[in-house]
Amino acid sequence: MTVVTRFAPSPTGTLHLGGARTALFSWLYARNQKGKFILRIEDTDRERSTLESVDEILASLKWLGLDWDEGPFFQSQRTELYNAKVEQLLREGKAYRCYCTKEELDKKREELTAAGKKTVYARTCRERTDGNPAQPNVVRFKMPTTGATSFVDTLRGVVEVPNEELDDFVIRRTDGGVMYNFVVVVDDAEMGVTHVIRGDDHLANTPKQVNLYKGLGYQPPKFTHVSMILGPDKKRLSKRHGAEATLEYRDMGFLPEAMVNMLARMGWGHGDQEVFSREELIQFFTLDKITLSPAVFDKEKLEWLNIQHIKRTPDETLAELALPAVKAKFPHADKEALMKIIPLLKQRSRTLIEIVQGADFYFLKEIAPDEAATKFLTAHHLPALEGALGIVEESAVMDHDALNAQFKELAQKLARGMKDVAQPVRAALTGRAISPGVFEMIALLGRDETLRRLRDAANKIKAA
Ligand code: GLU
Repeated sequence: MTVVTRFAPSPTGTLHLGGARTALFSWLYARNQKGKFILRIEDTDRERSTLESVDEILASLKWLGLDWDEGPFFQSQRTELYNAKVEQLLREGKAYRCYCTKEELDKKREELTAAGKKTVYARTCRERTDGNPAQPNVVRFKMPTTGATSFVDTLRGVVEVPNEELDDFVIRRTDGGVMYNFVVVVDDAEMGVTHVIRGDDHLANTPKQVNLYKGLGYQPPKFTHVSMILGPDKKRLSKRHGAEATLEYRDMGFLPEAMVNMLARMGWGHGDQEVFSREELIQFFTLDKITLSPAVFDKEKLEWLNIQHIKRTPDETLAELALPAVKAKFPHADKEALMKIIPLLKQRSRTLIEIVQGADFYFLKEIAPDEAATKFLTAHHLPALEGALGIVEESAVMDHDALNAQFKELAQKLARGMKDVAQPVRAALTGRAISPGVFEMIALLGRDETLRRLRDAANKIKAA
């Protein structure tokens, strides 16, 4: 049997972390099993579905690197199939037209509520034969009224629900619109889905769906309902815990690899390993290791993972990821130049944004010192700058060790601490008080550019 999984988002908003994790688990399981991963957009709710949301979901999945083998399918384009299946159920007496008006239904519901009973539909139209299909009607599915419906959930084992608690639920509305519980079954079955992995908010829908599988003559898939995601304070994940939309994390400078790692660790684990490459996740992922208890999203942990993944990412990949933002500031920047700086930045950057900012010093044409840097560009610092000028002018070798030795000597000669010598140079070269290592920067900038910047700074101090 080939494993087929799917991700079936409703395009009614952004793809939040819970949805991204569901997609990841479905994708990982398909890849682990060398199966197929299908993307299906569940846009039957015409009022709430938007094209922007579809675009955003697709962009999020692409960013995370969750590629699909089939799709995206759109339920809004499959109406014919759904109607054929409704007709089939009607013909076989497994579904019926219900002509009850809203007022009648409301009244019955109130009576049941007042009597303290569960508000299931009273099945008024179930055995009716005098209905006129030309009149407004919904189509309801005939559920069994006795016994129980059961299914196996990977994490919960056998789940059983008494049938008397289950409604003859609507599968097609008066306006012809088809309902989620119905179309999800038709599609999962017709698309050959073998494993449904989704949020546990759908647990209550599954008994209805299991009966529909039977009614339509399909074999039900295996179900895995994953827990919801909480913040570190054990409250339901919300804006307070950080951004909700997956793509906002991209914009904050997180690597997709770090995000995928974080999402996988929310409710799944492999021993005590924390940092996983994508290949490792594919290799180790199994459904039975998903935890039943709610998963926790911790932004600090994501930040830590991002640092680990930045260190592990090849220079060339980092350069490609950072280049668009660097080019936006410095049109003359290119990948080759950026790749020279990356080794300097990747050991000390927490996000891609820090890498982009860290690259500034290299591409700047005009140094405009900020407030912190200005403190190191005063008359007091002039001897250090002029000493540095001398070193860079005469130094035969311009690598870290050679420069380090000569700057030490200079500090001794001036009877100053190393910091008091290095900081003015840093400020002159970058306009910042914090930057990559001074000697590494000098080596990268080269003699001419370093001298130009040092002279510039020294001249400005003299002129002031
Ligand atoms: N469209 C449903 C949702 O977004 C999918 C549920 C399912 O996976 O069956 O919640």
